[in-house]
Amino acid sequence: MSTAGWEVRRRNGIWLPQMGWHLDAPHPAPRAVVSHAHFDHVARHDEVICTHPTAKLIAARGARLGPTIRAVDFDEPIRLTPQATATLVPAGHVLGSAQVLIEHSAFGRLLYTGDFKTRPSRTAEPCAAPPADVLIMETTFARPHYRFPTAADTMREVIDFCHDAITAGQIPVLLGYSLGRSQEILHHLHDAKLPIMLHPRVEAVTRAYEALGCTFPPYTSLAPLLAAGHTIIAPTQALKGELSALPQPRRLAVLSGWALDESYRFRVGADAAFPLSDHADYPELLEYVDRVNPACVYTVHGFAAEFAADLRRRGREAWALGQNNQLELGF
Ligand SMILES: [Zn+2]
Repeated sequence: MSTAGWEVRRRNGIWLPQMGWHLDAPHPAPRAVVSHAHFDHVARHDEVICTHPTAKLIAARGARLGPTIRAVDFDEPIRLTPQATATLVPAGHVLGSAQVLIEHSAFGRLLYTGDFKTRPSRTAEPCAAPPADVLIMETTFARPHYRFPTAADTMREVIDFCHDAITAGQIPVLLGYSLGRSQEILHHLHDAKLPIMLHPRVEAVTRAYEALGCTFPPYTSLAPLLAAGHTIIAPTQALKGELSALPQPRRLAVLSGWALDESYRFRVGADAAFPLSDHADYPELLEYVDRVNPACVYTVHGFAAEFAADLRRRGREAWALGQNNQLELGF
């Protein structure tokens, strides 16, 4: 597919053949920009561009990039070809997460969001929305019923959930991704006066966040036999491991944008589900497109085809990248 000269393909992530670069390739590629440190965006490429925090967080999780890593600051242009530069700008998704702005002397500006959110975050840099001619955006929560409450409102309910569990002689366990979500949860517990234990994978990332300048309330390492009276933050995968050996019954809450779907907590096997997400919700996605104001939008992930159709109904050129687009014909 091409607009204003750009060729954009969905192959091993996003592939820009004219640039010779992949964006967020999940499998090894000769050259790739890695937008952030979630593992579904990380592979061992020959040459990698990413932000300094992303490189440090990936290393803290024991994964390898490289052999050639060009770690850059936000807003620092890097030359990709004689005609084109790439600049990483904040995506607001997790610490160090970047959007990629490619500026070409003949084709104009192409912006790839990676995973992003525009709502304020306690631990990620504020999301930028630079103008672009072509926008490639993630559409994970791109259906109208995905409208997230503020994190402060959600976390007030989560803190009540924890106090209620402890009063009932149970151990509250908050389940979220070990990178990003867990640190947002922990930061919101600053004034909750809850003793906190972190699962080892959450603790490793939290220490890397601290080394990058984030501050958190006091916590200790997960010690299952000493966990009574504590609130535990852990990834979902820990349920069958360390969390099966607690001295009191556990009360599980999962924190995710999918909590807006009634069935989600049952699928996870949790007692409660609270909507806390690192992604943009539906109104944010629409507003973001208006701010960037591109001539053409390509959507990827989640409800990509539905959202592209929504944008077309609003008068924009928009296509789900690499999918069949059901065209609305006026018969
Ligand atoms: Zn992500």
